[in-house]
Amino acid sequence: MKIGILALQGAFWEHAGKLKELGVESFEIRKKTDLQQSYDGLILPGGESTVMGKLLKELDLFQPLYEKIKDGLPVLATCSGLILLASELSNDSNSYFATMPIKVRRNAYGRQLGSFSVSADVKNIGKVPLVFIRAPYIESVENSVEVLATVNDRIVAARYQNQLGLAFHPEITQDSSIHRYFISICKNPVPII
Ligand code: GLN
Repeated sequence: MKIGILALQGAFWEHAGKLKELGVESFEIRKKTDLQQSYDGLILPGGESTVMGKLLKELDLFQPLYEKIKDGLPVLATCSGLILLASELSNDSNSYFATMPIKVRRNAYGRQLGSFSVSADVKNIGKVPLVFIRAPYIESVENSVEVLATVNDRIVAARYQNQLGLAFHPEITQDSSIHRYFISICKNPVPII
């Protein structure tokens, strides 16, 4: 089991720590040759989606990762990672991988509520601490998408096939259950037909 972590900018390092804690090997993806090895899952960390989207294209990482995700590679996407997976952004004309049929609002909580944390139930996982940092939320999902968590009636976690999209940052809390759930998807991905 080996997981690639996109490490162009943002909170990639903390994800590696979580995986190590769970005894799972990971490597950083910074350039195209990093993708030559085989791997069982991908983490798209939080950071700044516009910058990440631009760097992915400039470094020729966009197309190979897009193909892998489309073909069913399990992905854990947090915060700006969620923005990269969304098929549509409600307040931005850009879209990136667009492999998850969901509509996402960027910086959705405004300046006042820029960062906050709550504890909430996540389906298939249980109660976990959720930390939001200039977070997006999911405005709507297609029927094929499973909603995993809501906070104040906003969708903040969803799964589509092997893609797990989160508006919050599980890598900076003490809890490892979200990463454990992701590893279980990597061990047993659903076939994409
Ligand atoms: N607001 C950021 C963006 O649009 C995401 C914030 C985060 O990843 N913590 O990319």
